[in-house]
Amino acid sequence: MTVKVTASRCPQNHRCPIINICPVGAIKQEGFAAPEIDYDKCTGCGKCIKYCAFRAFSN
Ligand code: SF4
Repeated sequence: MTVKVTASRCPQNHRCPIINICPVGAIKQEGFAAPEIDYDKCTGCGKCIKYCAFRAFSN
């Protein structure tokens, strides 16, 4: 599964809590910008999709 981030769904005003939920450390964030996925690390497990309250992650 390829997961993508829809930046317009992210309020971009907080530290992304999903960074600590991703089991392989595949999510990066510059300041409070929308998070980005490192596809070299992402396994497509889908946890980020499940836990982001704003549904910013999808497949
Ligand atoms: S799908 Fe899983 S491995 Fe990939 S970014 Fe989301 S939580 Fe991390």
